[in-house]
Amino acid sequence: MLSYLSTRGDVTNKNFTDVLLSGLASDGGLFIPSSHPDLDTNRLRSFQGLSYAQIAMQVIKPFVNNDIDDDVLAALIADTYSADNFDHDAIAPLVQIGPNAWILELFHGPTFSFKDYAMQLLGKLFDHVLEQRGQRITIVGATSGDTGSAAIEACKNCKNIDIFILHPEGRTSDVQRKQMTSVDSPNVHNIALKGTFDDCQAFVKDLFADTKTAEKIGLSAVNSINWARIMAQTVYYAAASAALGAPDRSVSFAVPTGNFGNVYAAWTAKQAGLPIEKLVIGTNRNDILTRFFETGRMQVGSVEPSLSPSMDIQVSSNFERYLCHLMQHDYTSLQKMMNSFKTEKTFNISNDLMDAVRHDFRAYRCTDEQTTDMIGTTYASTGYTIDPHTAVALHAATQVLPSDPSTPMVTLACAHPAKFPDAVKKATGVAPAMPEKLAAVMDMKEHFTVLDNDYDKVRDFIVSESSAA
Ligand SMILES: *Cc1c(COP(=O)(O)O)cnc(C)c1O
Repeated sequence: MLSYLSTRGDVTNKNFTDVLLSGLASDGGLFIPSSHPDLDTNRLRSFQGLSYAQIAMQVIKPFVNNDIDDDVLAALIADTYSADNFDHDAIAPLVQIGPNAWILELFHGPTFSFKDYAMQLLGKLFDHVLEQRGQRITIVGATSGDTGSAAIEACKNCKNIDIFILHPEGRTSDVQRKQMTSVDSPNVHNIALKGTFDDCQAFVKDLFADTKTAEKIGLSAVNSINWARIMAQTVYYAAASAALGAPDRSVSFAVPTGNFGNVYAAWTAKQAGLPIEKLVIGTNRNDILTRFFETGRMQVGSVEPSLSPSMDIQVSSNFERYLCHLMQHDYTSLQKMMNSFKTEKTFNISNDLMDAVRHDFRAYRCTDEQTTDMIGTTYASTGYTIDPHTAVALHAATQVLPSDPSTPMVTLACAHPAKFPDAVKKATGVAPAMPEKLAAVMDMKEHFTVLDNDYDKVRDFIVSESSAA
């Protein structure tokens, strides 16, 4: 029986809905499944010709493990991956850009980044489970990029959720801010903080540490450590593999990586039986992961701004999940490493284990200059426009030599190029075409509350506006 346990070892035997609602485990660890479902060759073959929603049901059902009734789960999934939410019938279409080179477009959701693919389902799962339990929650998050707008879009119609997203006043891109502040819904609260992104994030952490307030408002998070997001992201790997010939043909994926969430989902899909040959990680100048693959030492550096801001991260939280597997659930050693990482900002792993890591993943860094080059040469040679995050992954894909050139290399396009018009125009000489919906957002009225950089004021505002309190 599949259940969930914490990477720190003190919490075990949790069911899916508990894991969904709690996000982080109470011992400070991340939830992982006790085993991986088995997508055997017959089941994989049966995916050929199914819709995205049908494949999603097959992939997700074993992870939910009867904790939500099958017919309810199927309806929530069908509702999520529908023409109402996604602007392409295939939901996650493949585009061929070269012999055995493909792009998996993950920007057809309401906010034009891949975060919609998990977040849209999460909103519906949350609302259903809360309704059943007669509970309300308050979601609070900080954003500098795509997460905030994807979370707001996912929660704006949820009856049992109030959502508060903090952004640093005047320090977000116009497009990204307007995607959040143009939403007019009584349960959506945008806070423009007179401070930096780090101040926003620190206040969210303070709020979770303030257990009295947290309990009062039913505080929850939808950040990338929530297991259900990983689960939902495994689906597009399965759908793409099926479209390219799984189980009879293997596929490799190149993934732009920050928090290690998306590429961990790919690894999870591989554990479940998907025939994936190589998993290629692309990082920008914030290359903590690439350095780790080179040296065996995870060492936090300073965060530098880059052309691919959604990957400007120095701590890849989801890596702990993979590490737990790699160390065969040696919780004592893992706790030591995670404590060292917290206090000394570094940990090492042995050469033996590094051999296993390098067997599972390759990692390559991409400078801003290489990012611009990749956008430019891709446009010049194929006429296809990619965003800077996709360029980082495509650069990594071109670094790895295929052991079998007939294996398709699929690069994930995690954001629509129109979200980063300046970088794209600089590289190609042409401004990317704006989807109508994104263009419309630019002219809509904005809704936000400006607050001083003062924790007490932020807390009081959230408590007074939250209907769970
Ligand atoms: C969030 C994001 C990433 C990083 O994904 P992780 O799961 O954190 O590795 C990459 N590209 C884009 C466009 C994103 O929004």
